Amino acid sequence: MAATATERKLLIAGDWVATGEWLEVRSPYSGEVVGRVAKAGAGEAREAIDAAARALEAPLPAHKRAEILVKVAGLIGRRHEEVARTISDEAGKPIKTARVEASRAMSTYTFAAVEARKLTGEMIPIESAQAGEGKLAFTVRKPIGVVGAISPFNFPCNLVAHKLAPALAAGCPVVLKPASQTPLSALLLAELELEAGLPEGWLNVLVGPAAEIGDVLVEDERVKLITFTGSGDVGWKLLERSPRKRVKLELGNSTPVVVAADADIEAAAAKLAANAFAFAGQSCISVQRIYVERPRYDDFVASFVPKVEALKVGDPADDETDVGPVIDDGARARIAAWIREAADGGGGTVLAGGEQDGLLRPTVIANVADEAKVSCEEVFGPVVVLNPVDSIDEALARANGTRFGLQAGIFTSSLDTALQAADVLEFGGVVVNEAPTFRSDQMPYGGVKSSGNTKEGPAYAVREMTEERLVVIQR
Ligand code: NAP
Repeated sequence: MAATATERKLLIAGDWVATGEWLEVRSPYSGEVVGRVAKAGAGEAREAIDAAARALEAPLPAHKRAEILVKVAGLIGRRHEEVARTISDEAGKPIKTARVEASRAMSTYTFAAVEARKLTGEMIPIESAQAGEGKLAFTVRKPIGVVGAISPFNFPCNLVAHKLAPALAAGCPVVLKPASQTPLSALLLAELELEAGLPEGWLNVLVGPAAEIGDVLVEDERVKLITFTGSGDVGWKLLERSPRKRVKLELGNSTPVVVAADADIEAAAAKLAANAFAFAGQSCISVQRIYVERPRYDDFVASFVPKVEALKVGDPADDETDVGPVIDDGARARIAAWIREAADGGGGTVLAGGEQDGLLRPTVIANVADEAKVSCEEVFGPVVVLNPVDSIDEALARANGTRFGLQAGIFTSSLDTALQAADVLEFGGVVVNEAPTFRSDQMPYGGVKSSGNTKEGPAYAVREMTEERLVVIQR
């Protein structure tokens, strides 16, 4: 274990709990142990739900919830470098990208604080029906109850913040299960929430066997909502198994972007080269498929490929590094096999890529068959496919040719083409003249089709985590 490795216990009912068993957290870059975390099982999961259910019996007023949320944002700011280092160490995320994630988590808490303060129902125009004469009616928003939250490895701080902060804004206690590969950022956030004054039981954090803890969250009726970010295989099964709960899913994508012949090709190439490989492509909206109108295809390739080759691959702790490792050897082997399949069976030409000191270099493959895995599945690695197309209609049709629907993009100087794309692309979000990797933490973010069934962003998540109660008064 590295001299600087962190040791963290579980958080249950306001106490840091050791279970006698420990899980190691390893750097995806060096393989070094960067931390160890107490391992929870079904028993701890039940205790955590008990604690959350007890917390719900003593609701926290909205102003108090907002105050805590603002304080957490401030504490992340105060310990910004430590938060960023924790993200970088456990996820292998380049430190400069990890700093951005830490800042975004501050934003997420800040926006959630606003939602806590303005959470309200609405007046119902009850007298607009004869039956409503002489009556007054309005709704109030009540917390849905205990929230079970399950988060992925790729944004171990901000995607946890996107669950914890809205839940607190909504008045819901949480039982969180972060990804086993990256639990340290979540436990650090939990520490900051306690320091900000969160009373016991409002947040409980468990790290351990996913299926075992997941089963308890699914089976316990006191958990009213499960908010899940991760892979579709896991997410849709959780939903099937929980017919009486709200199960909110933020899943994967195979992000397409169209570059029209009338676009600023240089600007498009610069934005896409910078964004397609951030965190080694392990973002759910990492640019994966680029369709360029044929008259400008060669210009785009000539501008894009050198920019990709100029990205610095290496140690995530280095300030200069743009692209670090993927999360583990299994992911690296899978991605390498998909690249080979695209080049051999898929007829693609590899324009940039290869391996460097055991890391995958940013890989660009041209003219790949739509059936190749790198085209139709989610790569979740530093790989982009480039294809020339004969028309915008063809580009939009091929962009839509996926079971996913999270976010897509288009570069064009034509308002008509931009609006056509916004109309036709079957995605939760369409981004114009910016890489579709764009996310700002207050916007409604979420997918359609296989990509999920909800929107995150504090304002939207708070709605999901509350229920409207109708009040009718006879005057
Ligand atoms: P994953 O393997 O599905 O894991 C996500 C979480 O689910 C982890 O905490 C994992 O725990 C847990 N889990 C696994 N099996 C479970 C089960 N049977 N019951 C309950 N929980 C279970 O996903 P990942 O590899 O961490 O993340 C990558 C995926 O997330 C990609 O598909 C990506 O696109 C998607 N993603 C989507 C968004 C979005 O906002 N739409 C954002 C980021 C990522 P363990 O770690 O202990 O296995």
